[in-house]
Amino acid sequence: MSDLLAGLAPSATLAVDAKAKALKAAGEPVIGYGAGEPNFSTPEHIVEAAAKACLDPVNYKYTPTAGLPELRDAIAFKSKRDSGLDIKASQVLVTNGGKHAVATAFMSVLNPGDEVLIPAPYWTTYPEAVYLTGATAVPVMTSQANGFRVTVEELERARTKKTKLLVFVSPSNPSGAVVRPDDVAAIGAWAAEHDIWVLCDEIYEHLVYGDATHVSLPVVSPELGDRWIVVNGVAKTYAMTGWRVGWMIGAPDVMDAAVNYQSQTTSNISNISQRAAVAALTGDLEAVGHMRDAFDRRRKTMLTMLNGIEGVHCTEPEGAFYCFPDITGLLGRSFGGRVASSSAELAETLLETVKIAVVPGEAFGTPGYFRLSYALGDDDLVEGLERLGAFVAKG
Ligand code: PMP
Repeated sequence: MSDLLAGLAPSATLAVDAKAKALKAAGEPVIGYGAGEPNFSTPEHIVEAAAKACLDPVNYKYTPTAGLPELRDAIAFKSKRDSGLDIKASQVLVTNGGKHAVATAFMSVLNPGDEVLIPAPYWTTYPEAVYLTGATAVPVMTSQANGFRVTVEELERARTKKTKLLVFVSPSNPSGAVVRPDDVAAIGAWAAEHDIWVLCDEIYEHLVYGDATHVSLPVVSPELGDRWIVVNGVAKTYAMTGWRVGWMIGAPDVMDAAVNYQSQTTSNISNISQRAAVAALTGDLEAVGHMRDAFDRRRKTMLTMLNGIEGVHCTEPEGAFYCFPDITGLLGRSFGGRVASSSAELAETLLETVKIAVVPGEAFGTPGYFRLSYALGDDDLVEGLERLGAFVAKG
């Protein structure tokens, strides 16, 4: 057994989702708020492109490691269209989902001893993927009072001579925080001043609500020069989690290293999925708009229902598809004779008793919170929260 892998934590979000799906398969009426997965079907024109690709023998062979030329072109086109990021197709590496892009990006620029600033609450994968490179993850606590939007002051307090890279994700998983455009620029300027690289995870770029807007950090912070990497993917925007297409964009020397790494580990990703992604990225954003409207409606319902439960306090998420309520008001109390002293224990109790699956804050570096995805159907969403409300009210 490798010492390195013995020290790697399992993905808590996938574990909760797997447990919920297994209970459901066994006939339990489980409602799962665990996975970051849209409940919608992939839009039809994308599926049709994949079906067509299955019949075309050109797709039966290896393609370049970095991805189909058509897809790399589509990603360059989409980057310009959606966020004004001007890149060449040669700066794109197509990966097996956004998660693979994150891990590859870390592998491409980090060395043992480097420190990586990760605003908390953070997506559970970041610190583990940093760990695999031998670098050190440094969580930077953000404040609930500021809607979990990371600030330059918080980052500056955590900066040392060893700080190599900042992970910047807006909209954020798990908090739904969207950093304001001026503050994104200020964070970019701070990173540039201190020669810190920025990994920008833009996977939720299209899922912003109300007055919130997404801006791409390298676009508003040109002074960063080459010291940025953008990761993204089709999973969340096009309801394509299972297709496994993501990408990484960066400076030519970084991309050479990344492509070389991928050539020795996975080679190109499935051509069928790549063809589907071409259709997704070159098509219009109409279906995305419909899905966003549905998410927005569910976001408001969830926020209102959570804040209607005594002991639960949730700030308004402005992006992605998660609510991240503070549930410390429920800890140490007796519910049906059971007392939970941590969010992890309470999540366990909720799954066993009222059959709802939530991810405890421990998974995101912030105990005392729950993450609930609102990417599930409206009826289930309401019913599960009614169960939670009744569980708390009954005591
Ligand atoms: N980044 C963030 C912030 C995410 O929440 C996720 C999915 N949970 C990903 C990247 C990766 O998504 P995928 O690998 O499915 O493309």
